[in-house]
Amino acid sequence: MTGNEIREKFLTFFKNNNHSIIEDSSLVPQDDPTLLFTNAGMVQFKQVFIGEEKRGYSRAATCQRCVRAGGKHNDLENVGYTARHHTLFEMLGNFSFGDYFKEEAIQMAWEFLTVDLALPKEKLWISVFEDDDEAFALWEKIDGLPKGRIVRLGEADNFWAMGDTGPCGPCSEIHIDQGPEAGCGSPDCKMGCDCDRYLELWNLVFMQFNRDENGKMTPLPKPSIDTGMGLERIAAVVQGKMTNYDSDLFTPIISSISTLCSKPYGQDKRTDTAMKVIADHCRATAFLVADGMLPSNEGRGYVLRRIMRRAVRFGRSLGLERPFLSEITAEVVKNMKGAYPHLSESEDLLAKVVYNEEERFRETLDNGLSMLNTEIERLQNESSTSVPGEFIFKLYDTYGFPVDIVRDIALEQGFDIDEPGFIKSMEVQRNQSKKSWKGGSMAVMSAGVKKLVDEGHKALFVGYKTHRTDSNINGLLDHAGESVLKAIQGESVSIFCPETPFYAEAGGQVGDQGKITGPNGKAKVLDTVVVADGIILHEAEITEGSLSIDDKVELKVQEGRRQRIASNHSATHVLHAAMKSVLGDHVKQSGSLVTPERLRFDFTHFSPITQEELGTIENLANEEIRANTQLNTEMLEKEEAIKSGAVALFGEKYGDKVRVISIGNFSKELCGGTHVRATGEIGLLKITAETSIAAGVRRIEAVTGPAAINIFQAREKQLAELASLLKVPAENLGAKIEKLLSAQKELEKEVSRLTAKLTLGDIDGIINSAKMAGDTKVVVSRVALDSPKTLREMGDKIRDKLGSGIVVLGGEYQGKAALLAMVTKDLTGTYKAGNIIKEVSALVGGRGGGRPDMAQAGGPNPDKLNDALGAVYDIIVSQ
Ligand code: ATP
Ligand code: MG
Repeated sequence: MTGNEIREKFLTFFKNNNHSIIEDSSLVPQDDPTLLFTNAGMVQFKQVFIGEEKRGYSRAATCQRCVRAGGKHNDLENVGYTARHHTLFEMLGNFSFGDYFKEEAIQMAWEFLTVDLALPKEKLWISVFEDDDEAFALWEKIDGLPKGRIVRLGEADNFWAMGDTGPCGPCSEIHIDQGPEAGCGSPDCKMGCDCDRYLELWNLVFMQFNRDENGKMTPLPKPSIDTGMGLERIAAVVQGKMTNYDSDLFTPIISSISTLCSKPYGQDKRTDTAMKVIADHCRATAFLVADGMLPSNEGRGYVLRRIMRRAVRFGRSLGLERPFLSEITAEVVKNMKGAYPHLSESEDLLAKVVYNEEERFRETLDNGLSMLNTEIERLQNESSTSVPGEFIFKLYDTYGFPVDIVRDIALEQGFDIDEPGFIKSMEVQRNQSKKSWKGGSMAVMSAGVKKLVDEGHKALFVGYKTHRTDSNINGLLDHAGESVLKAIQGESVSIFCPETPFYAEAGGQVGDQGKITGPNGKAKVLDTVVVADGIILHEAEITEGSLSIDDKVELKVQEGRRQRIASNHSATHVLHAAMKSVLGDHVKQSGSLVTPERLRFDFTHFSPITQEELGTIENLANEEIRANTQLNTEMLEKEEAIKSGAVALFGEKYGDKVRVISIGNFSKELCGGTHVRATGEIGLLKITAETSIAAGVRRIEAVTGPAAINIFQAREKQLAELASLLKVPAENLGAKIEKLLSAQKELEKEVSRLTAKLTLGDIDGIINSAKMAGDTKVVVSRVALDSPKTLREMGDKIRDKLGSGIVVLGGEYQGKAALLAMVTKDLTGTYKAGNIIKEVSALVGGRGGGRPDMAQAGGPNPDKLNDALGAVYDIIVSQ
């Protein structure tokens, strides 16, 4: 029975037992921000289990893609070493939401395993939670389960809880005894041992209680069932294999790795481990990318990066020197897209992501490996057994060399790693960098700014609501950053006021401009910046009179400019959402610039965006603009905001309360910028450019409102000018230009035909110039060449007309000398064209030779051509 058949059989079995078959969910958990990856079948049903969500069914079954490679469940380091752990695996599960409970769950599981899959009953073992007499008794009643096979285990193994509070309950696991050869050989090896002998196949969770803050458990009114069985494990068992990697779910992948590195599988433990790791990690990579993850330095992306890098490292140990990962991930897609059609959708992206990451990592890997090998040699000489934490940290910190890889290599060489030492080094550095950051920023702070900070000033930004406000000048800094009491007309100053409607440059949005007016003068604000926490400075020039410290002033933002900035900023959000919807969820903002004139948006994406995609994005964005959707601003707790689906930007820092801008259901982003009230104010969005700025990062530029209209008008004007120039209506321009181009081609052909004709017309003149060497006519001439063939054509014609004699021609073509010598057949006994050309071509710095009747040569010095031709007669006479 193949893995695919088992998956089908499982779902059919539960369908026949009145379960709804539900599609599995993304590896990114939809409503659980605390969970890194979907790690069990029940994840998509959490809200149903706790009663917050109702579905149209009370029994369900799924085959859920799961990842256990980070966060609460992490089996990454087991992969390659155990027979049963993967980073990505498929979990078969049946669920009861207050419907059936223990008895039926046990009966169905037993029936499926022993009847449908025909597993030998005498090899099965059961564990129950130590206090769960009910489950114990139910298993005792099961027909065919040999006596003494039910084992009571403690809380660590057999009690499950959704969290510190909430639903929880005992579990019961079904194991299969794979025989002593699969085990660890320890005399204590028995059910519950961590080795592969008593293989856990299926876990049945009995959700029976609700636990409150005090740890008190009360029975749930409607107890539920959640079960999980690893498909790879059950497939291996059904197929009589001792490891998951020998099941048909893995053999095609393993065999493609084996072919790639020309090493057999199953003969050497280290080679096998490497192949298992690569096979497993390529599966995980394919699935993670398909669910929108990309390698990065944080969160899920970081886990993906670690997985890919670990695979590359193991590939190196198989002698795979060139990038290979994408070939294996392609094999994964080929094998699994039948069961997981969504894999095909991101196949191209996958290949690019994998190739890029692997290329990037190779150099790091080379450097790191050679340092690590040197260190290991040193340790061996010293007879130490542990790789020092400080060293591991250095590798990690300076080379980005992953700690898992150090661990794997250390393990292979019989070393431990000093993990506490590593963590300590990391902390030391963290503290140092904190200190140096503070010192650093203080050092660049001007004296005037430092004074404002020390006096505890903080400006309040009121510009979300208003464009003007009254305030006081609390700080005035000259161009050198020194505090001054007064500034006069013509001087540049930085003005600090405790309250301001001026937006200071942040998050890509440029600073505001405007006017500050005091009792004795005015200043033009050219830019607004934040230079330290809460210190907003208006970079200004005094245009009239003077401004002094403590002046009461009016601050007024230049409204038109601010409106255009707001329009471009809101347009950036609209564009971001449109791109996500057209290109996929992997699109993440990696930088942006919002000015009054235009907007620029950098984002992760691995291929150029096609003209068609750009069109779709532009249309979608403009639809949203025409919908004139109200923008909504909320202040939320950070966790709450992210949970509600707001897009948080990588690398930006947020306080505890964050500002969330939403545009209907279309877009939701954490953002501190200024925006329009409704999308209609944007008017129109036009994309003006799409380019690549780094590996995997692209840039889109766009304009809005009047600037967008300007583009259309300018294009129209240009088109009209062209049309009048070519004297056709604009819609016929294409045809007209095509016509012109083809006429031009014809003319070029004609010109070269005529040039050749002209040159050939000279032939008689050339022949008339023949000189006699004894009885032999010698024709020497320099000719104009329009193609390399001309020389030969002319030579043929002259020789034929000549009847008997020697012809030597030379010309210049594309900066080089070209030479030809011909001797008529009757004379080749005396003169050899090859010999003649050899001597002549030497004079233009070339070399040549050929047949007695015809020889050609070239040379790099065309300026010596006349001398060379002039020497021909003497050369012939001396033959
Ligand atoms: P183990 O003790 O073997 O790691 P577990 O107790 O972590 O298993 P559960 O959390 O109960 O497993 O998950 C339910 C089922 O999913 C297991 O019985 C097993 O068949 C499968 N499973 C769990 N972890 C993995 C993994 N890393 N790779 C493959 N299958 C797994
Ligand atoms: Mg486990």
